[in-house]
Formats: sequence, structure tokens, C-alpha cells
Amino acid sequence: MEDCVFCKIIKGDIPSKKVYEDDDILAFYDINPIAKVHVLVIPKKHITSLLELKEEDKDLLFHIFNKINEIAEIVGVAKTGFRVISNVGEDSGQAVKHLHFHILGGEKLPTR
Ligand code: 5GP
Ligand code: ZN
Repeated sequence: MEDCVFCKIIKGDIPSKKVYEDDDILAFYDINPIAKVHVLVIPKKHITSLLELKEEDKDLLFHIFNKINEIAEIVGVAKTGFRVISNVGEDSGQAVKHLHFHILGGEKLPTR
């Protein structure tokens, strides 16, 4: 996807502060954090959002959630707690049309 910001980050065309990377996923700090710790976890495969997930993506999805726990450890929020969010579509405010999971933590998060 040529004009996808996250595909550019994966390719290294846009720099990012990486937290974790393997063959299938990348985690990096959000450029505009809304919590003390704000990390984005993305698949390297361009998937527009959760809505576009297919049966064939089930291993990838499991891998992402497995690694979210490890990434939470790496950035120091596993013990204190964290929130995982994936925005889908217009009403959610999804700005980047490449599936991503926000990990928010490092402080008490608003409940509403
Ligand atoms: P969304 O609103 O689509 O769920 O979240 C997109 C997130 O990507 C936002 O929190 C935004 O700050 C972040 N973001 C957008 N462009 C970049 C970028 O170039 N680098 C990084 N590190 N984060 C980005
Ligand atoms: Zn993309």
C-alpha cells in the first residue's frame, strides 16, 4: 500500500521508535501519545481494519495478542495494567487505515 503511513514505517521509509519486531508484526511508540505509555502494534501485512480480517489471519491475530502481553512487559505496563484499543471506521476516529492496536498505560486511564 503505497500511501499507507504504517506500511512506510514497516519499510523504514518513515522512522519510528521501535519496541518489538519480528517477521509478522511491529510495535513502536505512538508519535502523539495520549497516555504516559502509548505503543502501537501492527501486522506487517496491510489489513485495513478488524473488519477486513479473514479466516486465514487467525494465526496472525493470535500472534499479535500473544505478543501484546510481551510488549506490555517490555514497556513496563504488564504489572500495573493497560488498555488495548483498535479503532474501526469513521465513528471510532480511525485515522490510519492499517490495522493497529493501541496499548495504553503507565498511569490511571479515564474510564469514559
Ligand atoms: P487511529 O486514530 O487510526 O486509531 O490511530 C492512529 C495513531 O497513529 C494515532 O494515535 C497517531 O498518533 C499515530 N500515528 C500517525 N502517524 C504516525 C507516525 O508517522 N508515527 C507514529 N509513531 N505514530 C503515528
Ligand atoms: Zn499499510
